[in-house]
Amino acid sequence: MKPIVTVIGGGVVGLATAYKLSLSNNFKIILLEKNKFLATETSARNSQVIHAGIYYPNNYLKTKLCVKGNRMLYSFCNKYNVGYNKIGKFIIANNDHQVQYLLDLKEKKSDFEIPLEFITQKKVLLLEPNLVNTKLALSSPSTGILDVHEYCQALEGLIRNNGEEIVTNTTVKNIKKSENGYEVDTGEFRYHSDIVINSAGLQAINVSNLLFNLGLKYHYCKGYYMKLNSSKKLVSRLIYPCPTVPANANLNSLGIHCTLDLNRNLKFGPDLNYMKEGEELNYSLDENSFTSEKKIKFYEEIVQYLPQVKVDELVVDYCGIRPKLSSATEFVKDFYIADESKNGFKNFINLIGIESPGITASLAIGEMVESIIKENN
Ligand SMILES: Cc1cc2nc3c(=O)[nH]c(=O)nc-3n(C[C@H](O)[C@H](O)[C@H](O)COP(=O)(O)OP(=O)(O)OC[C@H]3O[C@@H](n4cnc5c(N)ncnc54)[C@H](O)[C@@H]3O)c2cc1C
Repeated sequence: MKPIVTVIGGGVVGLATAYKLSLSNNFKIILLEKNKFLATETSARNSQVIHAGIYYPNNYLKTKLCVKGNRMLYSFCNKYNVGYNKIGKFIIANNDHQVQYLLDLKEKKSDFEIPLEFITQKKVLLLEPNLVNTKLALSSPSTGILDVHEYCQALEGLIRNNGEEIVTNTTVKNIKKSENGYEVDTGEFRYHSDIVINSAGLQAINVSNLLFNLGLKYHYCKGYYMKLNSSKKLVSRLIYPCPTVPANANLNSLGIHCTLDLNRNLKFGPDLNYMKEGEELNYSLDENSFTSEKKIKFYEEIVQYLPQVKVDELVVDYCGIRPKLSSATEFVKDFYIADESKNGFKNFINLIGIESPGITASLAIGEMVESIIKENN
């Protein structure tokens, strides 16, 4: 009999992991998702960028899995006709301090084969004539944009075609260790699972705590986006300021950047709003949480590089919530990906704190989980 693998959570990470495991035909896989539809939480509320793996420390999984996942994702999209556009990105420096940041950044990433190229002020103006104040840009041609919805649909179809099960509207309410694995309890049914993969996103710590207290804590952090309510086509690639302004220096945010969707519509964000302890997780965009003061904050950051944007053209679009392991004052923490053998729970694999670049890294995360399982069994 094949070992039963339960994947908890049908966001992009759970789906990519279930897909990777389904390829070997070595497991019986059951993916459980609490919502009516798959991938409607963080996986539907993000920038949809295929990142290159530039910002985080070289030894972080965030870097390694992003660099690997970037290549895996492009080849997946080509193979299964998922919409993407490798439009590239400029990280722009508008003062000497930021120029130095870019020089250091390129140098630090030289161990990885990430295509990166400096673009002079003169050439920036030729390529992006609406940008102002740019002293130097670091171009990342392997950055792109993705239709995440299509990506998740493709993963779902492949998992089902490989004969595995996806069950929605089903919440994992309890997990107990049994003699040879785990009893997974959804309230409606309870069954044996040899291997459990916790990819419950914003709930991943709560799900892990069903079994044992891991001692980790989330610092939930909302990021809002604004779209440009105008048909102006101001840029043709993604534009990111340097994350060196004090609020972003600990890499908990990459700054109010400018991205495009596949229809070339401009949007700005996400900003950084740590939520209060115990605050309800919701995605509402009520006026109280989005005052004109915030609009002005966005505007002030944007016009430093795109002065054609008018404050009245900015319209609140949507928000997403980052499952952060670092507080506002700490340096950004890495993904937590671990089999919990060390805590006495072999074959219980936690995927916690999978914030950005989780979409880009998703297939590489799936591959890492597969190798953890191979090592274990
Ligand atoms: C503002 C923002 C911008 C981002 N931009 C990018 C970007 O441009 N590029 C990039 O690569 N990454 C980006 N990310 C990160 C990326 O969106 C996430 O890493 C990724 O979507 C996480 O996927 P997930 O499957 O772990 O989580 P989720 O998508 O949240 O999925 C987890 C699922 O688990 C389910 N679940 C929870 N508890 C249970 C339970 N008890 N039983 C059953 N199911 C359960 C939930 O309903 C949910 O569907 C961004 C994130 C944010 C917040």
